[in-house]
Amino acid sequence: MTNKEDKDTISVIAHQLRSSLLGSKWALQMLLDGDLGPLNQKQKELICQAQSNNKKMVGLLTELVELERDSEEHYIAHIKSFNITELAKHTLSEHSIQAQKRNITLSYIGTNDPVFITGNPGNIHSAIQELLTNGLKYTNKGSVTLSLKEDSEHVTITVQDTGIGIPEQEQDRIGEKFFRGINAEMQNEIGSGLGLFTVKKIIEKNKGTFSFESIEGEGSIFTITLPKKT
Ligand code: ADP
Repeated sequence: MTNKEDKDTISVIAHQLRSSLLGSKWALQMLLDGDLGPLNQKQKELICQAQSNNKKMVGLLTELVELERDSEEHYIAHIKSFNITELAKHTLSEHSIQAQKRNITLSYIGTNDPVFITGNPGNIHSAIQELLTNGLKYTNKGSVTLSLKEDSEHVTITVQDTGIGIPEQEQDRIGEKFFRGINAEMQNEIGSGLGLFTVKKIIEKNKGTFSFESIEGEGSIFTITLPKKT
C-alpha cells in the first residue's frame, strides 16, 4: 500500500465486496433450505462448502474494511451528476432475495421521475445498501421501506423498518467505529459495527446529513439528506 488514497480505495472496494458476499449468503441459504426444490447430499455438501468460503472471505474483507477512509481526494475524484431515483430503486432491487428469504415486505415510496444530484454515486450506493441490509437484518417481522423525496435544494432518502430498534441508552453510540447494539449481538447476526460508521463518513464527504430515530421493539428510521449540488 503506497499512500493514503490507495488505502481509502481498497477500504471502499472491500466494503462493497463484503456487502455483495453477504447478499449471496441469502441466495445460498435459500438453496440449502430447499426453497427451490430438494437437494441431494452431494449438492448440500457443495453449498455448505461455498457458504464456508463465503464466510471466510467476509471475515478477511471485514479486516480490510477496517482501514481508514479519510482521503478527501478519492471522493472528489469520483464526484459526478447522476440520477438518484434510479440508483435508489436499483439498490432496493438488489435486496429482494434477502427480503423474500426473511419474509419481509420490501417497498419503495417516492418519485419515479429522474432526480439528478451531484455526488459520489459508488459511495452513495454503498450507504443505501448498508441501511437496507441493516433494516432487513434487524427486522424479524413486517416491512422495510425505502423512500425518496426532493425539494429545490436537497434529496432526502429514508430507510424505515419495523424491526428490533435500538435501545435508548445505546443511541448515542450509533455510528461509532465497531459499535454493535446489545440486542443486535443477541440476534447472533454477522456484524462488524462498521456499517453505520461508513455511512456517516460517506454522507459527510458528500456534504449531506445523517440521522435516525428508533424505538426498541418497534423499529427505526434512518435518514440521509444530500444536497443536489455539492
Ligand atoms: P453491524 O455490523 O453490527 O450491523 P452497523 O454499523 O451497521 O454494524 O450498525 C451498528 C449497530 O447499529 C448495530 O449493531 C445495531 O445495534 C444498530 N443498528 C443498525 N441498524 C439497525 C436497524 N435497522 N435496526 C436496529 N438496530 C440497528
